[in-house]
Amino acid sequence: MRGVHEGGCLCGAVRYRVAGALRDVIYCHCSQCRRASGHHVAATACAPEDLSVTGEPRWHRSSDEAQRGFCPDCGSNLFWKPDHGGHVSIMAGTLDGPTGLRVSGNWHGEDRGDYYDLPPVGDPSVLRR
Ligand SMILES: [Zn+2]
Ligand SMILES: [Zn+2]
Repeated sequence: MRGVHEGGCLCGAVRYRVAGALRDVIYCHCSQCRRASGHHVAATACAPEDLSVTGEPRWHRSSDEAQRGFCPDCGSNLFWKPDHGGHVSIMAGTLDGPTGLRVSGNWHGEDRGDYYDLPPVGDPSVLRR
């Protein structure tokens, strides 16, 4: 999905703009995403050079390979930034709509909480009953 997309945290202190392609949305069920988000993560991604941020997200080093960016005022999860610098993941729920995006996969499904089944992925119109 090309074009310009904008988004931000719940309180509006951190806003961002993506001037470039956004990846399909992936659900990630790993334990770090579950703890950071409170459930599973739904994330798109962009090239680091396409992302501009206003405000001051706080960065938490959540593993030896990545940091997570969140709003220090309201706590919204916003970004997952791997040290390899190949992309930045953006929590899809923080995008202003309409996004035009699709969910295309479940990652680390074996690590999901024991209280839910893997959510369906694919064309959202199929899910809208
Ligand atoms: Zn905020
Ligand atoms: Zn994850």
